[in-house]
Amino acid sequence: MSAHTTIGETLEQTVDRHPDRDAIIYPRKDQRWTYAEFNDRVNRLANALIDAGIEPGDRVATVLHNGSEMALTVYACAKIGAVFTPLNFRLPAGEIEYIVTDAAADLLVFEAATREAVEGARPALETVDEYVSIDDDVPAFASDFYALLESGATERPDVRVTEDDVYAFIYTSGTTGRPKGVVHEHRSMVEHSLLCIAELNLTRDDVGLSMMPLYHCAELHCNLFPRVHRGAANVIHHEFEPQAALEAIEDHDVTQLFAAPTAWNALSLAAAEQAVDISSLRIGLYGAAPMPEQVLENCREQLCEDYVQAYGMTEIGPAGVFQSPDDQVSKQGSAGLPALNHQLRVVEPDADPDQEVSRGDIGEILLSSPCVMREYWNRPAATERSLRAADGTTWYYTGDLGYRDDDGYLYVVDRKDDLIVSGGENIYPAEVEDVLFGHEAVTEAAVVGEPNDEWGEQVVAYVVGEGVSADELDAFLRASDHLADFKRPRKYTFVDDLPKNPSGKVQKFKLRTDETDSEPEDDPIQ
Ligand code: ATP
Ligand code: MG
Repeated sequence: MSAHTTIGETLEQTVDRHPDRDAIIYPRKDQRWTYAEFNDRVNRLANALIDAGIEPGDRVATVLHNGSEMALTVYACAKIGAVFTPLNFRLPAGEIEYIVTDAAADLLVFEAATREAVEGARPALETVDEYVSIDDDVPAFASDFYALLESGATERPDVRVTEDDVYAFIYTSGTTGRPKGVVHEHRSMVEHSLLCIAELNLTRDDVGLSMMPLYHCAELHCNLFPRVHRGAANVIHHEFEPQAALEAIEDHDVTQLFAAPTAWNALSLAAAEQAVDISSLRIGLYGAAPMPEQVLENCREQLCEDYVQAYGMTEIGPAGVFQSPDDQVSKQGSAGLPALNHQLRVVEPDADPDQEVSRGDIGEILLSSPCVMREYWNRPAATERSLRAADGTTWYYTGDLGYRDDDGYLYVVDRKDDLIVSGGENIYPAEVEDVLFGHEAVTEAAVVGEPNDEWGEQVVAYVVGEGVSADELDAFLRASDHLADFKRPRKYTFVDDLPKNPSGKVQKFKLRTDETDSEPEDDPIQ
């Protein structure tokens, strides 16, 4: 079943099939490369990295926004067996220091926008021998990316990379705490790419737009890799900007794109106000977090009919469960069915893999996946907790709670750590948030548990919304048929923004430690 192909070879095979088709379109720098042209540049960079002393197994870190340079770097690393280690471009110096040191990176590529943070971290980065800047204003401590690129030969680099080699360290999003380095091999990511090609029905005629961050595996592994593997075109946007994204769909006849639910929300709101022809868009991919029903409806009205949902996490590639367009309405709220070659189980939280709960009962979601990570880098205890073998099968413990319906469809309920237990009752914050979202004044909502002497925890809501009071929201929830009384928030805090990581996910641990400044308007409602 294994894919005897490396990530570098997926590109080379596409060059063999479709040398003249568009590979990379990067409007910000007026770059447009066919697959043959892209591959030549990848080879140049790969050879230049070898000349710069990078050997198989060495780590090449990036602190970059999206751009053609990210695409060049990931494939160049893949061709020479270097370990691609992309960092979030929004990280402050301290976090860069943490990840670069954890990964023991040898070379670091940065840009003008991340220079200050990289310079701040630099005195503490003992492992980095070489800094490379992709922008014109190259500081003295760095070399120029484009000069490096020019210096390399266009021949295929003379390095043997196998499918068992490590392709990347991908750090988790840091939604629940410090990011963890996930070690992925070539084999598993080629397998993952095939899954995505199948689930999205990707063809060489597709044109994808990458606007979600490429340092995250959702954009990189579910979008860029499958498109390159298939021979489709990649329009790359520096970062997500709803108006610009809509214009790009019109300008480049984009057929397919991925966005986190918060970004789909922003896109549908922008589309309602902007006159653009986005009829080329045939399919949308969403995932990374639950999509509120109302947002999906708005997207269907404003953007395109068909959506695929992916559920998963960095550790398994990230997609392990897919909901196909046909199931979007009939299985509303479900994450779908296990991906090809995957097995799914729901067990008592933390219990052995054979302790399955009954259909309909909530438990911890386990996946056995050909795309699963090798390990967490430098974290043997966390690896041991997450990967457990039973009867010759390795199960990944997702830390998410969910259930399967009678047809086997998975419903993700919440993260195990976010569960609120109040007065002995389990309360799943996502359920409360969904109902809150139904109020027209609520644009964002996050529900967390707050320690409470009487109940253990009490339900509190953080809300972004104008012209609405806590009393009105409470009355709205009381009037709703969908929410039991004990699940109603006892306190509302109105905020301008919710703390989010750059893939748009709400960082509830920050709300639980209450890093917001605003005081509750109405405290408490009983
Ligand atoms: P960290 O592990 O550092 O706390 P993270 O778990 O957010 O961060 P990712 O691997 O990017 O890092 O995200 C995976 C998580 O995102 C899953 O465990 C799940 O909680 C959530 N998730 C992903 N897809 C979906 C989906 N379709 N529906 C609901 N939740 C999802
Ligand atoms: Mg996680």
